[in-house]
Amino acid sequence: MNLLNRLNWLRKPKVKTGITDYTSTVPDNIWIKCESCQTLIYNNDLIENLKVCPHCNHHHRLTAREQISQICDPGTFYEEDASLSSRDTLGFKDTQSYVVKLKEAKKKTGLSEAVITGIGQIGSYRVGMAVMDFNFLGGSMGSVMGEKLVRIIYKAIKEELPLIIICASGGARMQEGILSLFQMAKINYALNEFSSKSLLFISVLTNPTTGGVTASFAYAADIVLAEEGALIGFAGPRVIEQTTKLKLPEGFQRANFLLDKGMVDRVVNRKSLKSTLISILEFNYGR
Ligand SMILES: [Zn+2]
Repeated sequence: MNLLNRLNWLRKPKVKTGITDYTSTVPDNIWIKCESCQTLIYNNDLIENLKVCPHCNHHHRLTAREQISQICDPGTFYEEDASLSSRDTLGFKDTQSYVVKLKEAKKKTGLSEAVITGIGQIGSYRVGMAVMDFNFLGGSMGSVMGEKLVRIIYKAIKEELPLIIICASGGARMQEGILSLFQMAKINYALNEFSSKSLLFISVLTNPTTGGVTASFAYAADIVLAEEGALIGFAGPRVIEQTTKLKLPEGFQRANFLLDKGMVDRVVNRKSLKSTLISILEFNYGR
């Protein structure tokens, strides 16, 4: 029994692990206003375009389930550890208690945590996957996200699978304090073991990827892809400006800026993410 179980941080299973149908439940007969260009778009058209605005190319945020359905071959994703959920170990309360916040996040997203992990197929390649959901407490990394990531990393090692982590996170979960920060070292330790087996790790940084996630595993990959327009950084631009008293250059911490600085390997439009991943898998594992 590992440390987490001994400390009883994990709730009892409520959600069944297994193959899940990730078909969108959003009604298709409504109009959505683009967050960027403000154009009204028929929701069906937006979904067909993978939630990329057909007018201005703005990449609207995806849920973890939408992300999985966009890149995995249909019906192939098998979810692991779907029932794991954080407990309020520190008795944390600010304007609201952590217990209430967790409850509301679960109700809003239908998830038990801010990451979904499992094994899926992309272009017929089996891969270990972790996909974060920003809608669940800002995709924050608490003890359960750490545990789920470590479990899928070790499963990928055991089955000699490549690993893909799709990040969307505001960083460590402040309601779990130091327990969140522990996860950075814990995940990177597992990734180091993964790397020692010469297995392939691809990280996909979506909007936003910040804080302790950027500072640890998001950049520990063999190949780091960034989604077009994504904000990627440690501290936010406003905090940096206030601290350094400097005016930041245009596009600072955006995907293309980071590509120019050599911080990411490629900027990918969402519509070519799956084909890019397949190309990388083909290159490494053959057809
Ligand atoms: Zn637009």
